[in-house]
Amino acid sequence: VIGITGRYEIDMGHCLADHRGKCHRPHGHRYVVEATVVGPLHPAGSEAGMVLDFAGLRDQMAWVLDGYDHRFVMARDDERMGAAVAAFGGDAIVPTSWPPTAENLAAWWGQLIASRVDGLASVVVHETPNCRATWRP
Ligand SMILES: [Zn+2]
Repeated sequence: VIGITGRYEIDMGHCLADHRGKCHRPHGHRYVVEATVVGPLHPAGSEAGMVLDFAGLRDQMAWVLDGYDHRFVMARDDERMGAAVAAFGGDAIVPTSWPPTAENLAAWWGQLIASRVDGLASVVVHETPNCRATWRP
């Protein structure tokens, strides 16, 4: 088995409503998202010798991740939601039905990318250079 990994970076803010640490406060990260696809190599054609064209993987990651780039992600039931939308506008806020932790983001983005990419083996979300969460189907 051979795999390829595409890496994509976005800037995004988040906050965790019920967290007792620093992540309760609104703040941002440069998220690094790595998607790994495994599978046989194409025997012929434009993708001969490839699992998947890197550009094709990047396009699918962009389809998912561009909607989060330079936006603020927070749980729909966070009591600060109304004030955030009033201050920054609905277009700046991405509401979620779960706390926007690296784990939940990895699971959500993994499912979305998997819906468009065959052979997706993992999605790794780096919240900081030292902290990451990994989703596997
Ligand atoms: Zn954070």
